[in-house]
Amino acid sequence: MGQFAVIGLGRFGSATSLELMRQGHSVLGIDADDKAVDRHADQLTRAAIADVTDQNALAELGLDGYDAVLVAIGEELQASLVCVVHLKAMGARNIWVKATSRAHHLILGKLGVARIIHPEEEMGIRIAQTLSYPMVEDYIPLGNGEFVVQIEASEQLEGRTLGGTLGSGETTIRTLAVKRRTETTVHPPEEFVLRAKDTLILFGQLHDLKMAAPKLS
Ligand code: ATP
Repeated sequence: MGQFAVIGLGRFGSATSLELMRQGHSVLGIDADDKAVDRHADQLTRAAIADVTDQNALAELGLDGYDAVLVAIGEELQASLVCVVHLKAMGARNIWVKATSRAHHLILGKLGVARIIHPEEEMGIRIAQTLSYPMVEDYIPLGNGEFVVQIEASEQLEGRTLGGTLGSGETTIRTLAVKRRTETTVHPPEEFVLRAKDTLILFGQLHDLKMAAPKLS
């Protein structure tokens, strides 16, 4: 279980906090607006009203021991930046910050922020990629054009073998696992017989995955 602090309980900050709680972590939510804090007080491990541009108020929260601190203040550029400067001075490790403009990103980069997030852009790219390949339920980019993708087998694949569907060995695609309801087969053999609605977890180069996608839908 991790210990996280989320500064700014707007839509992004509160959605992230609540999901962290669902994943079993401990979350301290912080906002200058007492109404935002009240709204989430009983859903988070702890919620505090504080203006994070005030170094003393921030220091009192003792964030240096947390696994990560997410600064989810978007609109108020100055508040976001001043907060990051204080967090750095306090020795907070693993600071993640939501950026809302190129200038915001640039300054956060100069301040040495490890992870700068652009939620709208990142989500937009994800949605566009999912729209382009509707059979892909989820994916993880691994860099160098390599991906792990999660695909649901269509009705047409019922009774077909994995090797017969994806080819055997001539592409970079490897089937890492097939999930059928509660049962998961790790590294299934080529003669594994598919059923409609099986979930396939595939690894491969984007080019090969693009070629294979129509065979699976
Ligand atoms: P979202 O899109 O996630 O709703 P946003 O990008 O519009 O948010 P803001 O509304 O600027 O971002 O900020 C999110 C939250 O951060 C708000 O609830 C606001 O009260 C809080 N906040 C802003 N400035 C401070 C500050 N100095 N100290 C603490 N909280 C702050």
